[in-house]
Amino acid sequence: MKTFSFKTYFLGHEDVPEEKRSWINAEQYNAYLSMAPIGTFCMVLAGVVLCAVYWQSSLWPLLFSWAYTSAVLAYVVLREWSKSRQSTRVTSCTDAKARKVTFWSAGVGTVWGLLIALLMMEQGGNSMTMPGSIAVGMLSSGAFLLAMIPLAALIYMAAIVVGFSIGAALIGDSAMLSTIPLMLVYGAMLQRYVGWTYSNFVKQRLDRRQLEESGEVISLLLHDFETHSSDWLWETDKQIQLNRVSLRFAEAVKRPRETLENEPFLQFFEGETSERLAEMLKNRRSFRDHVVSARIGGEIRWWSISARPRLDDEGEFIGFRGVCSDVTQAQAAERKIAYMAHFDTLTGLHNRAHFSAELEKSVERLRLDGKGFALHCIDLDNFKTINDTLGHPAGDALLRTVAERLNQCCGDSDLIGRMGGDEFVVLQKCVDSNSDAELLADFIVDSLLEPVTLEGQRTLVSGSVGSAIAPKDGETAAQLLKHADLALYAAKQAGRGCNRFFEPFMDEDARRRTQMEADLRHALYEDELELHFQPLMEVATGRIKGYESLLRWRRSENDVILPSEFIEIAEDTGLIVPLGEWVIRTAIAEAATWPDEVTVAINLSPTQMTNPSLISTVVSALATHSLDPARVEFEITESVLLEETETNLKTLHTLRNLGAKIALDDFGTGFSSLNYLRAFPFDKIKIDKCFICEIQERKDCRAIISAVMSLAKDLGMRTTAEGIENQEQVDILQAEGCTEMQGFLFSQPIPGRLLPKKGMLTKEGARNISEELAQKGELHLLKRTA
Ligand code: C2E
Ligand code: CA
Ligand code: CA
Repeated sequence: MKTFSFKTYFLGHEDVPEEKRSWINAEQYNAYLSMAPIGTFCMVLAGVVLCAVYWQSSLWPLLFSWAYTSAVLAYVVLREWSKSRQSTRVTSCTDAKARKVTFWSAGVGTVWGLLIALLMMEQGGNSMTMPGSIAVGMLSSGAFLLAMIPLAALIYMAAIVVGFSIGAALIGDSAMLSTIPLMLVYGAMLQRYVGWTYSNFVKQRLDRRQLEESGEVISLLLHDFETHSSDWLWETDKQIQLNRVSLRFAEAVKRPRETLENEPFLQFFEGETSERLAEMLKNRRSFRDHVVSARIGGEIRWWSISARPRLDDEGEFIGFRGVCSDVTQAQAAERKIAYMAHFDTLTGLHNRAHFSAELEKSVERLRLDGKGFALHCIDLDNFKTINDTLGHPAGDALLRTVAERLNQCCGDSDLIGRMGGDEFVVLQKCVDSNSDAELLADFIVDSLLEPVTLEGQRTLVSGSVGSAIAPKDGETAAQLLKHADLALYAAKQAGRGCNRFFEPFMDEDARRRTQMEADLRHALYEDELELHFQPLMEVATGRIKGYESLLRWRRSENDVILPSEFIEIAEDTGLIVPLGEWVIRTAIAEAATWPDEVTVAINLSPTQMTNPSLISTVVSALATHSLDPARVEFEITESVLLEETETNLKTLHTLRNLGAKIALDDFGTGFSSLNYLRAFPFDKIKIDKCFICEIQERKDCRAIISAVMSLAKDLGMRTTAEGIENQEQVDILQAEGCTEMQGFLFSQPIPGRLLPKKGMLTKEGARNISEELAQKGELHLLKRTA
């Protein structure tokens, strides 16, 4: 409970923080001065009335000196008042200055108190009207005028009450004496009123001050926000027209600030996002981070806007206030990510994910309205070579050119995608007949055949196309893709640079290949593979110089599969690597059991050549069996020099540096054979059997063989003729200067276990083994080779 205090009761409360003291003093002083004119006017009026009334009485000398003193006091106060009007408003005031007012008030109070006492004595109680009304009037007007300075009011009123009381006491009659307590109570009441008013005054001033200060803080913060943040503030009125436009907002919209006042806020925005913004503003709802496109000086920017409605004291909507920030960069990054999620950055075509999604949609539509379409898979035939020989920038340029050509071939409704690498796809919509799809596929093949200029070189390119038609060739996206891919495989098999449409047998082939792959894997780990060796005859001596190792897959006792049926699958699936490794180890192990001068030839396929483990396999096999590397000859075909040339040449040189020999196999079946002879200094050329078998009938074959023989001789290379089946061939080739021959005439390929471990196998020996095999019923297997 609050304790009662006389001081607080009559002088008001003094709960003023120390730092606000001088400011409150100034406020009191200003309030007092604002009352000064009316206060002095009252005093002057009362003085004039008094002088007029008592002009004739004996009091006039006293009145005169009183009027003089009052006039001086009035002058002092008025002068102070007028000074305050001319200078700026006082905002701080020392206690001393506040005390000055108290002195003046004490002076005025004393002067009037004295006058009242004298008048009362003069009247001697006859007519109390004038002194009484002066006392009451001066008392209440003093309370009113000095309410803001309680101490001054107290002294002033005390002086008047004391003056009146002295007068009443000197008169001495009982009626007069009874007015003294009345006057005291009256004064006390007025003083209480002063204390209460002053308390309210202080409280109200302090509250207002606090509001002003927080206002200042807010505007400081806002200013700071405007200058330091990348965002800017905006404010609108009820009609969503700009209000109090901030400098940064004006900068953001690139317009002078003064031209923006009362302009519609929505004028800067456009598009769908702006419609949504307009709607939210219309609904007078708060919103956050709404991204909207703005057109600023002809340029599109993206702004993120947050805002809340402004309400007045009655809760009435008076506009919006919010912040904006420029998010153009973030928006651009977001759009780029979205673009990259759908498009291939190199060619601008749809990427795999997006194309697949579109394909799914077409399949869905097919289900609904039965509208068929065609799917074309396109693959460049020699992309890898171009990439390797001309470099990746040229490869990229080629892919872009292909994308352009596909765009030219396809109609607006068709969808083109790049699935990765040099694989492209086209979804041809609106296909009414097969011929529509055939027309486009042919068109694509032809357009890809146009030479391309890459790195300043005219380069010949070709592409193969495989097509599937929905719903005929499949009803799901996966099925259609698979079938188009099988058709592409068929196109590649058919010699590339052409197109094939899916046919059910392709599926069967694929299934067979898949099965074969699984079986072959099984064969590798279940020891179903064996090596057979075919003798290489030295014509001059009739002796066996060495053997070529040839792979066989014995599926069961009587079921032997020849390499022509599985090597390609092993190549395609990469199984050739472990398989080839087995061949190298087995052939070298076998050769180590032969007489020292007998050599072994091992076939290497292109995929093996690029495998980094090839060299280490060879080295470790040679070391394990202590075989002289000079007894090993690796046979490669032209295709090894067609692809991955750099790597393959390096591998060939490494093998050669180990001491092994390198032979060019199947010579004459490739494209530009003579070039390959220059690419690497082969030890031997093996002339393909397709030339040998026609050597008796065709003169051109003999001419080619003759040319190759002399070329090989000039380059210091040995020659082997493959596939010799009769003596006539031997005679012709011998006449042409061929030194080594290989063929069924001399021997079938013989299982390793049947070769003599000691001494040389002779021609007769080989024939005997062949006959032995024939008796066991294995010769038919060998005949299949023929
Ligand atoms: P190639 O390297 O040209 O092997 C010679 C092929 O001609 C062998 O067929 C052989 O049996 C056959 N041949 C030999 N003399 C005659 C003949 O007088 N007349 C006829 N018509 N054919 C004869 P094979 O064993 O079926 O091998 C076929 C191809 O498979 C080989 O051709 C070779 O490219 C590949 N190959 C065989 N073994 C391996 C191997 O271990 N690794 C790799 N990468 N390829 C192998
Ligand atoms: Ca060979
Ligand atoms: Ca060959």
